[in-house]
Amino acid sequence: MALVELYRVTGESRYLQLARFIVEQRGQEPGLFGNSKYHQDHLKFRDQRDFVGHAVRHLYLACGATDVAAEHLEALYDDALNALWISLTQRRMYVTGGAGSRWEGEAFGEDYELPNERAYTETCAAIASVMWNWRLLLKTGDAKYADLLETTLYNAVLPGLSLEGQHYFYQNPLADRGEHRRQAWFGCACCPPNVARLLASLPGYFCTVAEDSVGIHLFAESSADLTMPNGEHFVFDVHTDYPWDGRIQVDVAFAPDRPIRLCLRTPWWAASVEFTVNGMSDTEAVVEKDYLVICRVWQAGDVVTLDLGMTVQRIETHPHVLGNRGRVALRRGPLIYCIEQADHDTADVWDIALPDTAELAVEFQPQLLDGVIVLKAQGIASDPTEWDGALYAPYMGHSSTETHSVDVTAIPYYAWANREAGPMQVWIPTVATTR
Ligand SMILES: [Zn+2]
Repeated sequence: MALVELYRVTGESRYLQLARFIVEQRGQEPGLFGNSKYHQDHLKFRDQRDFVGHAVRHLYLACGATDVAAEHLEALYDDALNALWISLTQRRMYVTGGAGSRWEGEAFGEDYELPNERAYTETCAAIASVMWNWRLLLKTGDAKYADLLETTLYNAVLPGLSLEGQHYFYQNPLADRGEHRRQAWFGCACCPPNVARLLASLPGYFCTVAEDSVGIHLFAESSADLTMPNGEHFVFDVHTDYPWDGRIQVDVAFAPDRPIRLCLRTPWWAASVEFTVNGMSDTEAVVEKDYLVICRVWQAGDVVTLDLGMTVQRIETHPHVLGNRGRVALRRGPLIYCIEQADHDTADVWDIALPDTAELAVEFQPQLLDGVIVLKAQGIASDPTEWDGALYAPYMGHSSTETHSVDVTAIPYYAWANREAGPMQVWIPTVATTR
């Protein structure tokens, strides 16, 4: 990554050649790292099809290879990059975007090996995935990479940092008994400075420019002064309550005196997409790679609004992920939710089920966790006290567990473990264990 960046800054092609040389050292005979899968040395990069071994290292390797491919030095990497993205997103990634499920070796597991309580999902692996998806976005212009970048940013990177900004997670489990808490520092201190680096560089991930186009990939209350390749400026403000609300307003403050394509990402979860230009909804636009593209000679004072339908969605998992059988996760906009003990005093959150018929209400709570939208529903809680310490019991065609109804409150997953310690889970059963 650094060598390709050095090439871009200096124009010296030997830096790019050296970057390619380093990627090409994987999978040689004899192997630089003993041809071990753990070091991604089992195959040449161009022949790799699955994420294996140390999660952070493999994602960084993919970043460097994508940079080399993006500079048109190595077209042979494209098949590997596409297959690796499918390996990650279809078989080896948590719903949060987190990657690397094994504590042993901080590594990727087998296909569908995605345990919740023992999820490793190192914060650095999520950051590496953000960096990789950014590079894939730059190479292809396809919004699916920006979608995953955003999902990972909100739900796999951000949980790594406490709300007060002083404590960090190294591992990010999706279920917990109240044992896993953020720490001020780690003996192997990769994640805290990696979070600092990403957050410091975050503004650079919001927009891109090309000769005749401006892309807006992430949404937040912000101002941008973009320099086009020919030196012209494109200046605008964004007003929005994103990620709580799907309305995004772009106020153009300065634009070149020629047609510019303004490309706004339309996320995969958007239930609907509507837009206006200066209050008119009949402006011509096209959708390219899931970007809404509006092309015109922009004037200072032009206002574009984009309305992304933000509904609460229940998400299920491929049935081979054993731990998620009969369970749903909750998503609203880019945010994944969880249930935490601090909001539930009449049931252990590991006993709570959310029936398919339960309506999920959206409620903004400005005092809670620095201001969050919570999801509320009527759930059912199993009561295992009658088990009286037993681990197993004869199954008589129905469970012997009693149940009672319970008010359920789900909070954004990034904000968990910021109050008193207690159980948490992301994947909620749809059916209570009941007699
Ligand atoms: Zn780390």
